[in-house]
Amino acid sequence: MSKRTKAVAVEELPEDLGVDWSKWSDGRAFRLKRKRDFPNIDPGIAREVCELAAHKMGKAVRTARDRRVPNKLLWIQFADAYVREGQPCPKCGSRKLYRLHANFTRCVQCNAQLIISAAGLDSYEDDTGTVGPRARERAGGKLKALENVRLERAGESPSSEIFNGYGLAEGTPVIILAEFQKDENGHELTVRNMFERVSRVKIFPADSMAGLVNIGTLMNRADSAWDLIL
Ligand SMILES: [Zn+2]
Repeated sequence: MSKRTKAVAVEELPEDLGVDWSKWSDGRAFRLKRKRDFPNIDPGIAREVCELAAHKMGKAVRTARDRRVPNKLLWIQFADAYVREGQPCPKCGSRKLYRLHANFTRCVQCNAQLIISAAGLDSYEDDTGTVGPRARERAGGKLKALENVRLERAGESPSSEIFNGYGLAEGTPVIILAEFQKDENGHELTVRNMFERVSRVKIFPADSMAGLVNIGTLMNRADSAWDLIL
């Protein structure tokens, strides 16, 4: 008799897959095993959930399927933040970064562990620790390129407000995670000031989140249920 069991239906699992991702967030690399460390689902889905979890924790994470057993094993490694090649530490502004290996570096000054992000990654800060105008323009540009954008306030970090929602990219539904800088005077985020405050935007095709996010339910929500509508 086969010991293999059928894959779990993702839509029956909680958003975090019922996994406490924080237990692997100390900066070491972990190899997670399907069924032992996360439910019996494709590691590709676990990967995206892990990235969402890191986003919610205000951390960075690098994930990769195992080359030899891609259907069962997933490698993950958390860090404090992302840094672009050649940029200073986003936590303290120091330029003294010690390369740990190809994708990781450590700040000599504040000891932050940083993931070196590819040029396409949209989160980086300038020397003063604030989001630079070009980064802001690029993050805003990603939102402006979408249609039918609907965002809902999902939480906050010490410096930013976090919004989630959806939009359409050339007719294809996408899930949006966006961060906006908090206003010193406590002004609410509106469609008029959001592009002055946007700091980070991540877009996932809704297909890739199937089962985790019910795009149909999101799209059927009344406009009054959303905080920002573009
Ligand atoms: Zn630092």
